[in-house]
Amino acid sequence: MGVSAQAPPRRIGVFGGAFDPPHKAHVALARAAIEQLALDVVHVLPTGQAWHKARPLSPAPERLAMTRLAFEGQPRVLVDPRELERAGPTYTVDTLHELAGENPGAELYLLLGADQAGALDRWHEWETILRIAIISIADRPDSAWATTLFEPEKVPFARVRRLVLPPMSVSATEVRALAARGQGVGRLVPPGVARYIELHHLYRTA
Ligand code: ATP
Repeated sequence: MGVSAQAPPRRIGVFGGAFDPPHKAHVALARAAIEQLALDVVHVLPTGQAWHKARPLSPAPERLAMTRLAFEGQPRVLVDPRELERAGPTYTVDTLHELAGENPGAELYLLLGADQAGALDRWHEWETILRIAIISIADRPDSAWATTLFEPEKVPFARVRRLVLPPMSVSATEVRALAARGQGVGRLVPPGVARYIELHHLYRTA
């Protein structure tokens, strides 16, 4: 009975990464996106075979376990293993198509650090990505904000948002380097991830 107002479209964040390991800036980025973009949920997706990373990644079960630990207790965050379960190379465009199919009418926000956003035009079917998703770029120290790629005359259909993130100079590379030297990583990663790295002797030979 009665006329119910149409529900607004669900707003879904899509945050992929090697997460080898996940660190505090990843958690901060997801939180900033949820707040600044008023997202209903963020899917955090550890990548499968990340075709654009030269270094072989740690095994999928380890990265998935650490990603779960990193985001444990974070409201509106869903650690989504689908890219790890997919055979063959991981393409973000496939994930976006799947999420769009599962959530008709939803708005998809692709969350990226500025370093990744600058290279987006080398991703598989990047123009399709720009049509499906709103590109949400977080500030990252030492990475210029990727303005040139998204000039309206180049990609008139691109929808781009900026995420304000206090500068966090942490990277997974730095975490691996510290662990390789036997140094603590607790300053850079959430406590559960630090314990996991310690317990499983990860990155000792990185
Ligand atoms: P690596 O050092 O191994 O290259 P990384 O620290 O960049 O790893 P990824 O898992 O590759 O971590 O990053 C996933 C996403 O998080 C990317 O979009 C990346 O730009 C973003 N990101 C990572 N670290 C930061 C940071 N300190 N500030 C902003 N964005 C970040």
